[in-house]
Amino acid sequence: MNILLKHIEYPESTELKGYCESGGYKALSKALDMKPSDIVDEVRRSGLRGRGGAGFPAGMKWTIASMDPKKPKYLICNADEGEPGTFKDKPILEKNPHLLIEGMAISAYAIGAEYGYIYLRGEYPEAKEILEKAIIDSYAAGYLGDNILGKGFKFHLFVYFGAGAYICGEETAMIESLQGKRGQPRIKPPFPVNEGFLAKPTVINNVETFANIPYLVEVGAYAYMKIGTPESPGPKLFSVSGSVNKPGVYELPMGTTLREIIYEHCGGIKDGKKLKAVIPGGVSTPIMTADTLDCPMDFVNLPKYGSMLGSGGLIVFDETADLRKVCLRITEFFEHESCGKCTPCREGVGWLSSILKRMCSGEGKPEDVELLLEISKNILGKCFCALGDGAAIVVQGFVNNFRPEMEGRAGAQA
Ligand code: SF4
Repeated sequence: MNILLKHIEYPESTELKGYCESGGYKALSKALDMKPSDIVDEVRRSGLRGRGGAGFPAGMKWTIASMDPKKPKYLICNADEGEPGTFKDKPILEKNPHLLIEGMAISAYAIGAEYGYIYLRGEYPEAKEILEKAIIDSYAAGYLGDNILGKGFKFHLFVYFGAGAYICGEETAMIESLQGKRGQPRIKPPFPVNEGFLAKPTVINNVETFANIPYLVEVGAYAYMKIGTPESPGPKLFSVSGSVNKPGVYELPMGTTLREIIYEHCGGIKDGKKLKAVIPGGVSTPIMTADTLDCPMDFVNLPKYGSMLGSGGLIVFDETADLRKVCLRITEFFEHESCGKCTPCREGVGWLSSILKRMCSGEGKPEDVELLLEISKNILGKCFCALGDGAAIVVQGFVNNFRPEMEGRAGAQA
């Protein structure tokens, strides 16, 4: 059963009429008859964790923001899906926009926000058009506005189009950008739940997280928790790219194994080749070896295998992949996207990239791999935000899991 990708069963759900015919906006109507605090409790009980990468419990965020006496409160949707390998929010934004709008309206009611923003990735112009039309239609039908469904709840929603900076997916940089400032992370605390947009309590959740809310409210926390694992409940979208026969976005229960995703849903490795490695959650999660196929894809089990769930953006590599080049390409991405605010990231990631470049061009030195580890160690834990840490742990993952190849002693097989 598809919950987040319901539009596969109801392709007409991009339009308001089709969305309503397939049960859309019933959860909003139900929610507006509940007490806001009961909805927050239900989300907390469900164990829903943020689907953007960090996996922070959504109910805890909502509880803190809703209990903060400061007003007004704001709601922001992180739709700045800019990490290579991650494209799981795109189908919701482009094919099921009302699911996001409904999820945000319910969330706003629960935390007491009257204004919300969808911070949309600058490279998603089609999604912008679709979302803006869906918002206009929702206003006309009374699902947004000053008196939603005649139940006295006010919520206004706007799309803010980003400019293509990966760092603006970091929540405090996103807030800075929304306020018209340079998109650079703020030091935390204070956290956005207490002092976010315009220094007011602000809940920021990912597209997929909001898309879970209508179903959660409809069936209740207990039924919701029957999907997935006890520690990581709910459905999860996995975007799969690389050397598989059927790349795409798949909705599966949390805890589905890598093996099932790659070999059952994605049809196995292209051209009958052997699996060499997998990046499980977008390029900021450490690479894993082919013998980790039985790892359940969830928040708890991936760390036991040395990686993280991240966004759930899998990149699959076959035996011919040159992992030194892959590591260089990823590090160049982080170097390019570093906002430059803190020295370990601004300088250190550039050094990682330079060393990897000379290793790939055949001019590497015997000490280069150790140097990569040393620099990574000096970046880790010393940065303002997770971008610098991400670059460091990714390089460590390549070296620790594929050391002979990184040292040039073994490599890609043609
Ligand atoms: Fe900017 Fe990098 Fe520092 Fe993050 S870690 S604040 S991206 S320089």
